[in-house]
Amino acid sequence: KTWHQTGLTSKILETIKKLNYEKPMPIQAQALPIVMSGRDCIGIAKTGSGKTLAFVLPMLRHIKDQSPVVPGDGPIGLIMAPTRELVQQIHSDIKKFSKVMGLRCVPVYGGSGVAQQISELKRGAEIVVCTPGRMIDILCTSAGKITNLRRVTYLVMDEADRMFDMGFEPQITRIVQNIRPDRQTVLFSATFPRQVEILARKVLNKPVEIQV
Ligand code: AMP
Repeated sequence: KTWHQTGLTSKILETIKKLNYEKPMPIQAQALPIVMSGRDCIGIAKTGSGKTLAFVLPMLRHIKDQSPVVPGDGPIGLIMAPTRELVQQIHSDIKKFSKVMGLRCVPVYGGSGVAQQISELKRGAEIVVCTPGRMIDILCTSAGKITNLRRVTYLVMDEADRMFDMGFEPQITRIVQNIRPDRQTVLFSATFPRQVEILARKVLNKPVEIQV
């Protein structure tokens, strides 16, 4: 498999070349055709497998075709992850691509830098990467005045098993209930315990399952 068989745009391919990612990693080779086709997908994969780009690259392709996000709009792509560190990691992976594409990505987590996150959200960003608890706080305490979920059409839950272990299930369910049902949804998890399977069945629509 080569990158050119994946249907990604030239800007994305140029950036991949600059990063010296010679060929798709196995999880990417499996996930990209499925996710690029618009199907929901469950990926069982660990950190280090290359899972981040497996959901980020199709997201960028998805967003590129939409009208730009303006102030007052919420994001088109929403990624949920269990920890601040993972949110920062995903955000930094996305930035390598989003900047040259003219897309904005805001990380949302508690602690330092919250004021800046809020002002960036208000200006509008195509992508938000968040911890579920912090995102709920921002949506509820501002009554949707900082950001909202109305334009979300691409949803990712990364490290779903860890989000469960950390007790985020109620927050995840609340967020998902407020996103339009015709969205595309991608779930990644290192393991696939029963509780994650139950969540996946509720939240994803006829998902394709892949494993590395
Ligand atoms: P992840 O599992 O998403 O955390 O990715 C693990 C590491 O692999 C990250 O440092 C990525 O930058 C890198 N990476 C992702 N895709 C590729 C690829 N196709 N070729 C080489 N390295 C990659």
